Amino acid sequence: MNCDTSKDALRGKRSTMITEAATSARMNGDNLYVCSQVLKSEMTLDNRDILIAGEIIVNSEASRNLSALCDGFGSRFFATKEEKDAAEFMAAKLRRYGLQDAKAEPYAHFGWKDGKLIDLWSWKRGTASLELLKPVYRLLPCISLANAPSTSEEGTTAEVYCLEAGTRTYLLDNKDKIKGKLVLDGTYTRPNGHWTPAEIDKGNLYRPTIYGYLQEFGASGFIYINRSYGDLPPTGAVRFGLIGEIPACGISRESSQFILRQLSDGPVAANLKIKNTYAPGATSYNVVGDLPGHERPEELILVGGHFDGHDISVGAMDDAAGACVVLEAARALAKYGGSFRRSIRFCCFAGEELGLNGSTGYVLNHVDEIKNIKLMINTDMAGISAKTGHSFQVCGPQELASYLEKILNETGSFDREWEIPKITYSGRLRCHSDHWPFYVMGVPTVHFLDVPSDPIDELYSHTTADTVDKVNAKGIKDAAVILALVLARLADEEEMPVKHTPVDRILEALEKDGTAEILRAEKRWRRELSS
Ligand SMILES: [Zn+2]
Repeated sequence: MNCDTSKDALRGKRSTMITEAATSARMNGDNLYVCSQVLKSEMTLDNRDILIAGEIIVNSEASRNLSALCDGFGSRFFATKEEKDAAEFMAAKLRRYGLQDAKAEPYAHFGWKDGKLIDLWSWKRGTASLELLKPVYRLLPCISLANAPSTSEEGTTAEVYCLEAGTRTYLLDNKDKIKGKLVLDGTYTRPNGHWTPAEIDKGNLYRPTIYGYLQEFGASGFIYINRSYGDLPPTGAVRFGLIGEIPACGISRESSQFILRQLSDGPVAANLKIKNTYAPGATSYNVVGDLPGHERPEELILVGGHFDGHDISVGAMDDAAGACVVLEAARALAKYGGSFRRSIRFCCFAGEELGLNGSTGYVLNHVDEIKNIKLMINTDMAGISAKTGHSFQVCGPQELASYLEKILNETGSFDREWEIPKITYSGRLRCHSDHWPFYVMGVPTVHFLDVPSDPIDELYSHTTADTVDKVNAKGIKDAAVILALVLARLADEEEMPVKHTPVDRILEALEKDGTAEILRAEKRWRRELSS
């Protein structure tokens, strides 16, 4: 048989399979277009893959779940009734889809203080005001950063100092200027301060690391800015799992430009007043459900994205979207439960925004099972983008990147608007999302997210504008297809090509690449290892 004949035979076989998929999944014209692309492609999708993809393309509940989570439960903020109710809603969904042991699972520890695990603290936003006193008076719109402490009644009055770079070297070189000042983070590089892996590799620090150094160098307070236009003050945690030491607020890019114009003419002074409440003793709930494998049920592929948002919005992009991508992949794969070699565990984590609380609580509560997790996929901000931004960020082992590339090439691109998801490999992992507690315990991890080609797609997270309308309906559906196909492959792989890394080696590598220094500045070095 020559090559063309064999392709024809393959296409004939696919055509029959697609007719079956179309019949079972109530195809319409658009979806038949998608399937015709499958026929034209040179992919190696098998029958099950096509049925899984078809189920999501035609019957997706992802958008409905997104609206239900955001409209029904608000911000789902850490340790609130809405968070618990949303967790129970999602657990009920997973049970209805057919997952086993699906439940809202409580965790009550950890906070982290002075090198010891403590009870979780609740944090509740109060009021915040930022008044420019010199050279002109102006009351600027601001909000407190999360986990920031209150000021005294009269507030903190100090001169304003503007950071010109976001690196440790810059902060160290200027620590005398930082002392006693209200420090404005003027490092405009990326919308919402989300550095690319390349920028992180260049030493640019993220919000909580800068806060850590400012506190260490004696700053009076921190004024964080939103990199995006739109007059939107941002929030974001200053400390992970504990309350900060110096006051901190977020202001819009436009307000920061106003301050910078004043600074270009001479000294600027301001008063920052913040009133928040916080107390020890909080309970929060993760969502967990299983599709047990038939050959090695104890081995797990674990996928999870956080479902909590910041209290100022419904957190649709960050990260109801990622949680709904997890739910949708679970729904499509549930029909094949029992047919995979190993088990798939679907999680939606609570309390990420206040310091990876849910995922860290999960790891500490399931310490005995960690050795069985063959791979952890984090879906924080997966599917938000309309077209081409789907991407897997891998940080070691290197074989994981090549392996995922192989799988993705096999599952291919079968939609006119798709590109095969990109694999980005970084020597340094971002330690500010839910893959982190797993990574530091030695589990191979990967972050599946959208890196939108259009900056408009990432303008809104951590602001009041992170609303349902910002999430692209097709984006979350496409992300769910990619995730479901990848999970099916991983769960069926005879031998996983990546192994756990001994914790000592992880710690050594973190010391070497400077991440340990970041974690020390953030007061969370080794906290996951102290149970
Ligand atoms: Zn997030």
